[in-house]
Amino acid sequence: MEDLKLSKVQNIPIENDKGVSLYVKREDLIHPFISGNKYRKLKYNLEEAKYKGQNTLLTFGGAYSNHIAATAYAGKISGFKTIGLIRGNELESEVEVNPTLKFAHSNGMQFKFISRESYRQKAEEEFLDKLKSEFGSFYLIPEGGTNALAVKGCEEILQKNDYRFDFICCCVGTGGTISGLINTSGGNQKILGFPALKDDFLRQDIRRFATKENWDLINDYHFGGYGKIKPELVAFINRFKKNYDVPLDPVYTGKMMYGIFDLMAKDFFPKQSKILAIHTGGLQGIEGMNLKLKQKGWLQIE
Ligand SMILES: *Cc1c(COP(=O)(O)O)cnc(C)c1O
Repeated sequence: MEDLKLSKVQNIPIENDKGVSLYVKREDLIHPFISGNKYRKLKYNLEEAKYKGQNTLLTFGGAYSNHIAATAYAGKISGFKTIGLIRGNELESEVEVNPTLKFAHSNGMQFKFISRESYRQKAEEEFLDKLKSEFGSFYLIPEGGTNALAVKGCEEILQKNDYRFDFICCCVGTGGTISGLINTSGGNQKILGFPALKDDFLRQDIRRFATKENWDLINDYHFGGYGKIKPELVAFINRFKKNYDVPLDPVYTGKMMYGIFDLMAKDFFPKQSKILAIHTGGLQGIEGMNLKLKQKGWLQIE
């Protein structure tokens, strides 16, 4: 894939009497279709796939997966065939109405829809062997794209200028992104992860890749679980965009930023703290979420 420009760091002019300042690193702007951290996570995996002489990428994801959308597009521009195993047989008839699947499909991704039960076996050898006999040889990218090469890519998010910050905040799904941030952070910086889901094993997963201990997870802002949403979160996202001209997504970055604002209000951060929040992208998911919000008759994301 093409090399990226440095992503811009933007001030969020918050009002507070403790001298706390907040900045956002706009990884959402590094590529129009390969959203933020998914670009970082795919970069070295695609190089490895080429090096191994593979011409097909196979990966997994759910109905609104940023990773599925990103892999389809990255595969297309890098000359790979892409196969997506999608969780939920019922989605087969919804490709044309689901914005994420429609996008991936129009960029050449071939789908196989599987039940939630088979989806759980996706890392097992027997299951992968069956896929090999069905599709021939492929380069496997795990769910959410996290592996050692993905972490290596995420080690390139922080740049020299970012060592002036005391706190680095990021969203956590599978833990690949935060691991990369931890590995290149300064020892005096603290990395705070905001999980977008309930998961008791995340800490263990992060320890597999992270080389330092200067991090913590804040588990209070998942809003009930992965992809779960509440009207107050939608209202926050809309207010944030209006006030600061930065769009947030409902699955990851909206929850993190809600958490950061709540923690600031509760005086979690010491006086004069400089906070850098990583905007990992994910904006392609807004359209799909709005369809769900509309069905519920709730406020939509603007
Ligand atoms: C996938 C994703 C994450 C989670 O990244 P992990 O490396 O799986 O923890 C965070 N933010 C956005 C926008 C994502 O799409």
